[in-house]
Amino acid sequence: MAPCSAAVMTLQPQFDTLAQACRDCRRCPLAAGRQQVVVSRGNPGARVLLIGEAPGADEDVRGQPFVGRSGQLLDRLLVQAGLDPLQDLYLCNAIKCRPPANRRPRPAEVAACRPWLAQQIRLVDPALVLLVGGTALEAVLAIKGGITGLRGRWLSPEQGPMATDMRGRRLMPLLHPSYLLRFAAETEGSPRALTRADLQEVHRQLSALV
Ligand code: SF4
Repeated sequence: MAPCSAAVMTLQPQFDTLAQACRDCRRCPLAAGRQQVVVSRGNPGARVLLIGEAPGADEDVRGQPFVGRSGQLLDRLLVQAGLDPLQDLYLCNAIKCRPPANRRPRPAEVAACRPWLAQQIRLVDPALVLLVGGTALEAVLAIKGGITGLRGRWLSPEQGPMATDMRGRRLMPLLHPSYLLRFAAETEGSPRALTRADLQEVHRQLSALV
């Protein structure tokens, strides 16, 4: 599970260049309303890449993904599943700038931002990719809806706008933590318990890679 620090150091200039290019980006109208471009958090050498939807208010202020209430819940579930959010994962979003009033990103915005996501995938080169929420599922696999039925399953996609980027990787859709915030229960069968079980499966797969 340990990152290959030598490889990360070699790639660090490319990560820095990518982050600066994202910060300079004005490819879509979301640039006008952002405070910060939210590129990533976690370990660039991780074997697990987690893709969410878009920054919220807290992320826009702090410049990192998954740092608000939903991110705190995600971190807790990751830790409970045996995963270290800062070491075992690289976290990012399909969209790097906050949509106004946290509305869902539009297809044109997802398409405009996809090249940045593709570069992140290429640089991190993860074995496992977690698609968190419907927007990530649609951005990567062009699957609209159905996250509830697909969550927790390993997929090896051969179609979709990022099929080439995903070749050789295993993908798992997960429920978005902002959805999990609506259900406080953590009893068996609850959305939070299901997500914890999904993350435990991710931990198992990650352990098997070492
Ligand atoms: S959301 Fe993506 S494509 Fe749009 S301005 Fe921000 S970085 Fe650029």
